[in-house]
Amino acid sequence: MSIFENKKDVIIAGSGLGGLVCGYILAKNGYHVSIFEKNQQIGGCLQTFVRKGVKFDTGMHYIGSLDEGQLMHRLFKYLNLWEDVRLSPLDREGYDVISIGGDIYKYANGVDGFVEALAAKFPDNRDDIRRYVTGLREIVEESFIYNLQKTSPDMTFDESAHSTSFNDYINYCTDNPKLRSVLTANAFLYAAEKDKTPVYTLAHLNNFYLPSAYRIVGGSDTIAFSLAKSIKKLGGQIYSNAEIAEFICDDDKMTKIRLKDGRVFEAKYFISNIHPQVTIEKIKSPLLRDVYRQRIEGIDNTVSCFTVYLVFRKNSVKYNNYNFYFYDSEQSVGKTQYDLTRFPESYLYVHQADSEKNEYASRAEVLTFMRYDDVRLWENSTVGRRGVVYEAFKRDCAEKIIDKLNRQFPGIRDCIADYYTSSPLTFRDYTATVDGSMYGIIRDKNSPLQSRISQRTKIPNFYFTGQNINSHGMLGVIVSAISTASEFVQIDKVLSDIRNI
Ligand SMILES: Cc1cc2nc3c(=O)[nH]c(=O)nc-3n(C[C@H](O)[C@H](O)[C@H](O)COP(=O)(O)OP(=O)(O)OC[C@H]3O[C@@H](n4cnc5c(N)ncnc54)[C@H](O)[C@@H]3O)c2cc1C
Repeated sequence: MSIFENKKDVIIAGSGLGGLVCGYILAKNGYHVSIFEKNQQIGGCLQTFVRKGVKFDTGMHYIGSLDEGQLMHRLFKYLNLWEDVRLSPLDREGYDVISIGGDIYKYANGVDGFVEALAAKFPDNRDDIRRYVTGLREIVEESFIYNLQKTSPDMTFDESAHSTSFNDYINYCTDNPKLRSVLTANAFLYAAEKDKTPVYTLAHLNNFYLPSAYRIVGGSDTIAFSLAKSIKKLGGQIYSNAEIAEFICDDDKMTKIRLKDGRVFEAKYFISNIHPQVTIEKIKSPLLRDVYRQRIEGIDNTVSCFTVYLVFRKNSVKYNNYNFYFYDSEQSVGKTQYDLTRFPESYLYVHQADSEKNEYASRAEVLTFMRYDDVRLWENSTVGRRGVVYEAFKRDCAEKIIDKLNRQFPGIRDCIADYYTSSPLTFRDYTATVDGSMYGIIRDKNSPLQSRISQRTKIPNFYFTGQNINSHGMLGVIVSAISTASEFVQIDKVLSDIRNI
């Protein structure tokens, strides 16, 4: 069926943050946008779920740079998010609290705050810490999004920041092994691989949270719903329960999509927010040459995670106004590979905000890395039908995590009224990322160009967007959506709209 009349029709596959932001920018600039989402709920990693009236985020826990005048504050304004999204600020003196082998360290907001909080623990390394922060700042200042100016034709690529690993950078900043571990301690946020992940990724994450850090009140789905509302107001359409089975091309371009239920939709342009490795499996056309397919298929993906979602008894747990990164020892820091007999060697513990100011926490999440191989046994099963052995495996993992949490926060076990879990299979099935990968493809400093996916493809009217283009996370994905939208709209116009809003 053809639902479109005009020449500016764009089909977007997937309603993750990337698809929604790209859809919003295009709709705002006169395009007719239709977004197709395989799930009932839109949002991808912004999805939430509710159990016995308690709501949990699945893939967006805190956001940075949201104070008035800061970058994400402007982007929120441009994306019209302030209307619906409420935020709760994290502790400026320590938005991330890190425990390594029992010693506690804090990441504080602001360059001086960050330096002083860590220098209190490492007084002899004050200069090293400053070198670390200012060096990362210099890297992002090169990037177009940070200064909202177009600085190079290829806007997201700065060669040196992609060919140096984050680990080499930290080692260059300081000789102190303990400080090196502390500076690596939020590596969960980017599933860092020491020999691969470029310093570009660390620089963007660090500078995202350094100015300010906030939790989303009432669930990350509010971001997805707000964007969807704006897109609809601008005349766009969003179809849920609409899984794309195939992207269909003629001899020289893409022409249609076919849904799993058989419906077919035509458009002039197509954008995929679905993982590129999954997307290209759905394109049979020879317009995508074998060499391109092999390169995309050959890129590794970041590790997945196991999450325990905790429901607390009423008013039993004081609200933690910070994220808590736990490591057994220095050796456990920066490791995505772990020893299952010592599971979990590390975890990230986050409370969820019920309002702008919270006295007690009603719910929390504990996240730890998990390899797909550890759940491969059940890979042919579907959600809710994976069997008793899988349920026992998850319960065992959850109990180990709660035991460790209880050692750090004595008595917390008694405050838990209920808990739920998710595994790499959950992520695979809810977001269609390869092997439930948390953040999509691994950027590899050893082959920066080979491990990079451009928004442009070999099909002239077909583009990618989302975390596999540029970078993951709230900022990384918005940047990639802007990059993709700039194939349609003058980038200078988008950037000046954001600057001048
Ligand atoms: C556990 C976890 C914690 C995180 N925490 C944070 C955080 O605290 N702060 C932060 O900034 N970032 C965080 N992130 C990262 C951030 O959530 C992601 O980078 C971002 O949301 C990804 O958006 P996306 O649009 O690229 O992809 P996705 O959200 O994966 O969206 C892809 C969409 O495509 C849909 N789709 C797939 N296949 C099809 C198909 N065949 N047909 C139709 N639709 C399809 C999917 O259902 C999904 O909706 C976290 C991620 C994870 C996994």
